[in-house]
Amino acid sequence: MTSPQNKLKEITQIAERRGFFFPTAEIYGGKAGFYTYGHLGKAIKNKFEALWRKHFLEENCYEIEGNTILPEDVFKASGHLKSFTDPLTECKACHFRFRADQLIEDSLKIKAEGLSIEDLNKIIKENKLKCPKCGSQNLTEVKWFNMMFPLTLGAVGSKEIAYLSPETAQNPYLAFEREFEATRKKLPLGIAMIGKAYRNEISPRQLFFRLREFTQAELQVFFDPDDINKHEKWNLIKSYKLRLMPVSERKSKKVKELSCEDANKKLKLPKMYLYYMQKMHTFFLEVLQIPREKFYFYELSEEERAFYNKFHWDVYLELETLGGFKEVTGLHYRTDHDLGGHAKQSKKSLEVFWNDKKFIPHVIEVSFGVDRNVFAFLEIFYEKEKERTLFKFPAKLSPVEISIFPLVSKDKLPEKAQEVYKKINARYVAFYDDSGSIGRRYRRADEIGCPFAITIDYETLKDNTVTLRDRDSMKQIRVKIPELDNKFKAMEHSL
Ligand code: ATP
Repeated sequence: MTSPQNKLKEITQIAERRGFFFPTAEIYGGKAGFYTYGHLGKAIKNKFEALWRKHFLEENCYEIEGNTILPEDVFKASGHLKSFTDPLTECKACHFRFRADQLIEDSLKIKAEGLSIEDLNKIIKENKLKCPKCGSQNLTEVKWFNMMFPLTLGAVGSKEIAYLSPETAQNPYLAFEREFEATRKKLPLGIAMIGKAYRNEISPRQLFFRLREFTQAELQVFFDPDDINKHEKWNLIKSYKLRLMPVSERKSKKVKELSCEDANKKLKLPKMYLYYMQKMHTFFLEVLQIPREKFYFYELSEEERAFYNKFHWDVYLELETLGGFKEVTGLHYRTDHDLGGHAKQSKKSLEVFWNDKKFIPHVIEVSFGVDRNVFAFLEIFYEKEKERTLFKFPAKLSPVEISIFPLVSKDKLPEKAQEVYKKINARYVAFYDDSGSIGRRYRRADEIGCPFAITIDYETLKDNTVTLRDRDSMKQIRVKIPELDNKFKAMEHSL
């Protein structure tokens, strides 16, 4: 059995060698918190985003593209300017700066998110916590550090302040009035955006799990707060079983399996919120094929969640290389905090007329960090067998779907293989390789998670059949070229 540390090392080595991801500006030594997707990583990211759009953009949900640079007023209104902060401490001996809450979590194995400055200082002193770099106990008092990157617009001397947006969410709020008008003034209205977000993280770490520049896929659902306990598809989802870790079960560490109906009654979660919980659940388990036991929803306590979030559950996936279950996604009931804040700051009414009344819509936010999810796929689907390492990605997520190999590079086999490659590449993501032994080529395809490989041999020239190999079982079958399409559909990791 590979240890989690070795597993992380192996994944990193494959990622860098094969082109999944690598540190940005590596030739200059790289910079913590910045990673580049190589061609394979980018292909997975593109596929993830396409699956996300297909799954979450239902009726009356639309995608927009706003900006990553936004004026200061936006963040005054959203509250980021005042409270988008992390607790910072510095080692007086080696001047290493790091997050006080992470120091506590790493050293004492307790949750420290949401604690006050006073509590953080007290815990650090009482437990005599040390600098993680040099071991000195001489740490500065903890203070808040704002994580937004500021910039000035225009020429030298300009005082026009703007910020790199720390979330995509503000764009849908800014666009709400226009989009509500343009889409025929109906609620619920979903406005999504997939785009970059920037956070000046104090301690970027764990590869691209905590970055300073990352991609979010977020959906803001605007609705009438009187409809919070309704959803037109409730009857379709009410018996669906959710895996939940409510605050009350934290000590026991027992995941509760509750139907949406029971979660509505026992945990008082509203039906509109549960609809999106179920939607996220099916996305992870059915679309992305994450094993059930590696998934649950984690409830944040009142102290941990933002003051405006009435309900906040995060999706946790088990990532053994990062030490256990970790947040990859959140579901937030943000009430009218954002639209209300923008109405106040801009002095514009953002009320709508709907259901015979005027009001500011409330918002449920589905918030995905794309990079954290891509990282999770690499770690969850990675396997090491006696003679090979492989990623058992579902075909829908694989960066390459079908590899095509001529058995040898002579006797008209490459020509035939090229002919097959061209046909297949028109419909799937295919890869042609004619160098090295066939066994080596299979290993290389396994290592990038390609679910199917086709080999063209002497038989092919005679009867138009090829060998089709399945990545996971390594079983090989003989298939007629015109029947390949049907076969891909019928196999376990169907395309
Ligand atoms: P954390 O507590 O881990 O800092 P968060 O609760 O601040 O995350 P949100 O503000 O809810 O995160 O952002 C939504 C999603 O964006 C997260 O679930 C995560 O997937 C992603 N995300 C947030 N910060 C980062 C980061 N620094 N690097 C990569 N992804 C991030």
